[in-house]
Amino acid sequence: MEREIIKEINVNSIMTRSTLPVGGYSVNPYVGCPHACRYCYASFMKRFTGHTEPWGSFLDIKSWEPIKNPHLYDGKRVVIGSVTDGYNPYEKYFRRTRKVLEELQGSSAEIMICTKSDLVLRDIELLKKFPKATVSWSINTLDENFRTDMDKASTIASRIEAMRQVYESGIRTVCFISPIFPGITDVKAIIEQVKDFCDLVWLENLNLRGGFKHNIMEYIGKAYPALLPLYEEIYDRKRTGYWQALEQDIQQYALQHGYPYRINDLPYGRSERGKPVIVNYFYHEKIRRHK
Ligand code: SF4
Repeated sequence: MEREIIKEINVNSIMTRSTLPVGGYSVNPYVGCPHACRYCYASFMKRFTGHTEPWGSFLDIKSWEPIKNPHLYDGKRVVIGSVTDGYNPYEKYFRRTRKVLEELQGSSAEIMICTKSDLVLRDIELLKKFPKATVSWSINTLDENFRTDMDKASTIASRIEAMRQVYESGIRTVCFISPIFPGITDVKAIIEQVKDFCDLVWLENLNLRGGFKHNIMEYIGKAYPALLPLYEEIYDRKRTGYWQALEQDIQQYALQHGYPYRINDLPYGRSERGKPVIVNYFYHEKIRRHK
């Protein structure tokens, strides 16, 4: 791994009221993310933090006033890793995500972790002490070469193995198939790999905006030239036919396999083993308008 620019910073509180649709609180023990995903939506963070370095090349390690009363968060959803990965490789040494979990012990906060790492396995015992905890791994390919082109996170094989172990330990798991790359992400093949140890499958389409649109289009042109017309159709001419067809295909597939299928929903609870609930977060408003 190339060396990142690391510094320690002080913040007043590690708990931030969330503006995400899932509500509750966001917790980001780091600023920046060495996983450096090419499509990272969180890279907009740079603007608010004064960083001018390329996304993925810096990491601020937060220190904060300890949480005095964890019960303030009873029953509240706490999302760890909305604009960083709390289990990036530096967490092994700095243990800031673990610190948050320790400070929240005793509360009935609903912990939701989003990661691309297997390091979360270290904290299984802490997570099990919360009445509600969920760990989600983003997986948008089974092809390690494509994965290496897209991020510097854990291998897909190790994410899937971590999902299996966390599921077997009794913690709810999610396979977040995101972002779905048209013509590259094989949603059904991923579901087949994980169906026995995930409760939910979330689906989200690739959304190209800001600085990374050009980079991704350039990458597709070089690595997958046959797909470039499809990408131009979707991202330049804003056609939604690909997503509509994929949505119908997955809905049909879910029906055939007896997987419950939902749209823009966040159900709670565990699923029957081997029957994950599939939740689609595609652009429904846009698709409806288009129809
Ligand atoms: S792991 Fe998440 S936060 Fe980190 S670079 Fe990738 S998408 Fe961004």
